[in-house]
Amino acid sequence: MSENRVRIFDTTLRDGEQAPGFSLRVSEKLQLARQLDRLGVDIIEAGFPIASPADAEAVRRISMEIRRPVIACLARCHRADLEKAAWSIEPAARGRIHTFIATSDLHLQAKLRMTREQCLESAVDAVRFARQHTDDVQFSAEDATRSDFEFLCRVVDAVIAAGATTINLPDTVGFGTPDETRDFFTRIRERVPAADGVVFSAHCHDDLGLAVANSIAAVQGGARQVECTINGIGERAGNAALEEIVMAFHVRRDRLQYAVGIEQKEIYPSSEMVTKLTGQGVQVNKAIVGRNAFAHEAGIHQDGILKDRRTYEIMRAEDVGAPWNPLVLGKHSGRHAVQKRCNDLGLEVEGAELIEVYRALMAIADDRKQLTDDDIVAVVSSVRTSQPQAAAPVDPFDTPSAAPHALHETGYGHGV
Ligand code: MN
Repeated sequence: MSENRVRIFDTTLRDGEQAPGFSLRVSEKLQLARQLDRLGVDIIEAGFPIASPADAEAVRRISMEIRRPVIACLARCHRADLEKAAWSIEPAARGRIHTFIATSDLHLQAKLRMTREQCLESAVDAVRFARQHTDDVQFSAEDATRSDFEFLCRVVDAVIAAGATTINLPDTVGFGTPDETRDFFTRIRERVPAADGVVFSAHCHDDLGLAVANSIAAVQGGARQVECTINGIGERAGNAALEEIVMAFHVRRDRLQYAVGIEQKEIYPSSEMVTKLTGQGVQVNKAIVGRNAFAHEAGIHQDGILKDRRTYEIMRAEDVGAPWNPLVLGKHSGRHAVQKRCNDLGLEVEGAELIEVYRALMAIADDRKQLTDDDIVAVVSSVRTSQPQAAAPVDPFDTPSAAPHALHETGYGHGV
């Protein structure tokens, strides 16, 4: 692979699936794995086989059927975990065992109740054992970003010597900042003598909303694999969102000159499938895949979009396979958008009739979140059948915004 190629390691089926409310059946995992293959991810982490018989079964069936990507699965540094992992990926065209142990003193003392030396020994043993089953072994130092740096370097050096081919340094609790993360990857690669022979990987969580920024910073610090999930699902606040990393690389390729193997048009279908299978919706303002990611209600924005969509959009919905219906009509909308929607519905309105239709729609919109096509059809038809109206007595406290809206072509939506 070229020097700037970043491997996309998708862990939707493992970290994503283990979050509360996201569990999937074996058949659903298979269906999603097929979609991840179409999406072009390099590695699918298909599960944590020791966690349940169904998880082991899912990994094994995905290993049998999905042949292009590497199929990875998770194992603690325990014989039973590693044996189950080896069984699960045994049918794979390319299988990876991903073994991990925490390296921070906090996790070692409070959770694992072991010393640093015992941790180092377990890690080395596990990697050696995994290498007897596959040439592709990934080691993760859980809670790496809160680990003692010198000790972490010792562990990384030792597991490379034992045969690990990918070194993942997770920000397990989403604690890092971008500048720190970049520095962290740069320094560790400088400090570990055998670093050049392995791929470094980032696994960032979103507890502070920094998972994507930290993942990109890790790549700038020399990581060449990022672990991420569709819709950013995962433990607690989730993992770095695959779609955001990929589109950041694409849209800002002037500054982020990294290549990935992702088929961008499969991003939105992948997101929809995750939503459908898990029953967990995406927040409406979610970057790239949220319902509002390419939608505009504010009149000033709608006017800009109608003239040149680049005024308020930095990428095209079509490029990520999403539908593009950008104009949402509501109380912030202007006359241009109303006229456009009427025309799209085959209702040509202009001049005085447009003003009347617009006024009537805005009066409805003040009461509602959004205007539907049915509202528009009904209003146009009622305007057309009504007699010219005598000015009705106006209660200034009852019809607050119909009149001011009508004075503006673009409406009152904020411009910045
Ligand atoms: Mn995680």
